[in-house]
Amino acid sequence: MSELPSHARVVVIGGGAVGVSSLYHLAREGWTDCVLLEKNELTSGSTWHAAGNVPTFSTSWSLMNMQRYSAELYRGLGKAVDYPMNYHVTGSIRLAHNRERMREFERARGMGRYQGMAIDVIGPSEIKARYPFIETHDLEGALYDPNDGDIDPAQLTQALAKGARDLGAKIVRFCPVTAVRRAGDEWVVSTPKGDIRCLKVVNAAGYRAKEVGALFGRDIPLVAMSHQYILFDEIPELKAWSEAEGRKLPLLRDVDTSYYLRQEKNGMNLGPYERDCRAHWVTADDPMPEDFSFQLYPDDLDRLTPYMEDAMARVPILATAGLSKVINGPIPYAPDGNPLIGPMPGVPNAFEACVFTFGIAQAGGAGKVLAEWVIHGETEWDMWSCDPRRFTPFASAPDYAVAKAKEVYGHEYAIHFPRHAWPAGRDRKLSAIHDRTKALGGVFGAYNGWERALWYACAGDDVSESSTMTFDRDGPWHKRIREECLAVRDAAGILDLPGFSRFNLEGPGAAKWLSGLITGNVPKPGRIGLAYFADRRGRLVTEMTIVRHAETLMTLITAATAQLHDWEWLRAALPADGSLTLIDRTAEYSTQILTGPASRAILSEVCAADLSMPWLTHQETEIAGRWAKLVRVSFAGELGWEIHTKVEDTAAVFDAVWPAGERHGLKPFGMFALDALRLEKGYKAWKQDLSTDYSVLELGLERFINWEKGDFVGRKALWQAIHGKWAKRFVTLVVDAETCDAPYMSTVWKGNRIVGETTSGGWGHRVDKSIALAMVKAHLARPGTEFEVEIFGEKRRAVVHDDAALWDPGNLRLRS
Ligand SMILES: Cc1cc2nc3c(=O)[nH]c(=O)nc-3n(C[C@H](O)[C@H](O)[C@H](O)COP(=O)(O)OP(=O)(O)OC[C@H]3O[C@@H](n4cnc5c(N)ncnc54)[C@H](O)[C@@H]3O)c2cc1C
Repeated sequence: MSELPSHARVVVIGGGAVGVSSLYHLAREGWTDCVLLEKNELTSGSTWHAAGNVPTFSTSWSLMNMQRYSAELYRGLGKAVDYPMNYHVTGSIRLAHNRERMREFERARGMGRYQGMAIDVIGPSEIKARYPFIETHDLEGALYDPNDGDIDPAQLTQALAKGARDLGAKIVRFCPVTAVRRAGDEWVVSTPKGDIRCLKVVNAAGYRAKEVGALFGRDIPLVAMSHQYILFDEIPELKAWSEAEGRKLPLLRDVDTSYYLRQEKNGMNLGPYERDCRAHWVTADDPMPEDFSFQLYPDDLDRLTPYMEDAMARVPILATAGLSKVINGPIPYAPDGNPLIGPMPGVPNAFEACVFTFGIAQAGGAGKVLAEWVIHGETEWDMWSCDPRRFTPFASAPDYAVAKAKEVYGHEYAIHFPRHAWPAGRDRKLSAIHDRTKALGGVFGAYNGWERALWYACAGDDVSESSTMTFDRDGPWHKRIREECLAVRDAAGILDLPGFSRFNLEGPGAAKWLSGLITGNVPKPGRIGLAYFADRRGRLVTEMTIVRHAETLMTLITAATAQLHDWEWLRAALPADGSLTLIDRTAEYSTQILTGPASRAILSEVCAADLSMPWLTHQETEIAGRWAKLVRVSFAGELGWEIHTKVEDTAAVFDAVWPAGERHGLKPFGMFALDALRLEKGYKAWKQDLSTDYSVLELGLERFINWEKGDFVGRKALWQAIHGKWAKRFVTLVVDAETCDAPYMSTVWKGNRIVGETTSGGWGHRVDKSIALAMVKAHLARPGTEFEVEIFGEKRRAVVHDDAALWDPGNLRLRS
């Protein structure tokens, strides 16, 4: 079929594995009047030359979900669409050279088990039994994943294409999209074969997605990296073994060295992710060619030599094989290495499914997620890890995107430690008092590009990157975090918090309109309130603080990382009549948190504000002759104020507060301390505890629902749920943890059954306890119930705390 239809419901741009899977999943949901446009032949981008590995392993719950779905889909696909494929489910062995890697594997095993996959952690002798050609003398163990394997990427794409076509969808090849424009509520997509009108459009253009994005005025953070694998000739020993055993070797990944090694027929395929890596098409003298279909970069074996040598020592039969071919192709990277799947920021009815580094393994799941976004506007699983809105425009700057792409590629298999901050692409957005917090010992991390102190080191503390390569609670930071928390408890702490996202909402019906979006009440003028936004299923979308200045004017404050997400959520709901204005004021203001019992005394020395005004109020004042807004609230759970200032006044205000505070024992504190403090209050963090996987009720936020106020988004679903059964329920657990607190997505056990998962964990220094926030089966969520939390493979006793917070349950300190 090459005739271009004049209309389609959806146009998908790009015929690689991901675009075709998107089309297939749209068609499977009944959206069969959809068309895929491919510049060249199907698979001609990155798909044709992919190695075809299909792992399910991930330490991200949502990526694991997506990859598990893909593997399940691929197993049945050939039969379902009547297109036989080469899909070998060989299992895989992922090697561990050290204890921390084993801990990572233990955690992945727990998550995998929870998703119904029999992933296992094995010792050196079992590695040898499964992979007789391997040297194991220097290994701690391995992760065995029976679901892993390899698929022919071209056959996979053709099978998905057949499935889509059989359902009625259309694919037009050799039909590049050259322009797009809006015509009323439709898109007009232009190609050399003519125009096609559609309601929705999907950018699935792989490494060319930046080019296609530009047609929509969208700058996608994407860098094409060069990735190579080497094919080796037949190895007689391997052939003999394979024939005798009637199977292929499991796929081997030496993740600490950074390569995969897979049996390819009776030879081998070696693919390193080398530290000394190359980005392409990022400078003016190296433009992306008009057409790179079915093309490769020149071989660059020098970069691979150390990995080849390592692999030959690990699997000595490899050293006997001749090298037959090198495949060096473009692989697109976003700054965090995850793909973009979801709404295209700022562009109506446009979506992205691009920038895949593991697009073969993820194509199945990505197609499902994309189709859900397009058809329903929401997804079954919380997909924030892949949401295009997680990047704000600074991330598309070429120097940043390239630095991050190279860092992620070179550490593709790295362990992500809780205290580690990746060093590339830093110092993008600095607070006006960055020099001051740095001089105080600040050790920084980036939040939507904003540098914030994680903790404050003292002279002699080890602040090296290598010191953070541990899951242990203890480390150079631990003592300092404790000091910071105790200062907040006993005196006061100050936290510089640049980059809080803030939107001004103004107009006659602002409060009424907002009330229809949130579950609870819009605060009265002069007050502030925490607001929860649900989707129509009653699931949690986001949380914002509303500062109501006047009847018709308010500021909505939200997390730095939520800037684009929350902006889009609000903007999409704005009334079409233009009666309300919404303005992003993030760049104009900054925030410092002053909290602790001495904070009133400190503030009283620097301003004339009425500091007796109660909790959840706000007022304007002057500090050092500069305007400031004091908002009486504390995420740390103590008496305290947020001090909002104009960015240019931040330093003057700090310079007034700091010396006044020093007389009262004021200390700077960082994000790690804030996290510990909020856990003791049971305060939830967005996209950690506050996930769209859970409903507002499951999250225990009933007190933020006003059933009497009239309709709001999600009310119907929540009302039905309150009278029915809830799957899960939020609890605070006190855990008998040893050296590590519960990481995100540790499984919660009752006897021999998994009954829930943790969403955050950490040490509470005011209560001297290991705390986990968790979601457990609703009927078990009673105070005093005993569970076990599996922390890196070890089950630790955990008890449900009562509904009130562990620290200051009556909020007396907050209100003091
Ligand atoms: C050497 C190598 C090995 C790899 N091995 C693996 C692996 O083992 N497992 C794995 O999961 N991943 C692997 N990958 C990554 C994988 O190849 C990609 O993630 C995947 O192919 C991406 O698929 P896609 O559909 O997003 O993009 P692509 O396959 O690049 O498809 C995009 C399509 O869009 C088309 N297009 C572009 N512009 C336009 C336009 N204007 N109009 C119409 N069409 C357009 C292109 O022609 C192209 O066909 C490997 C990559 C490399 C380089």
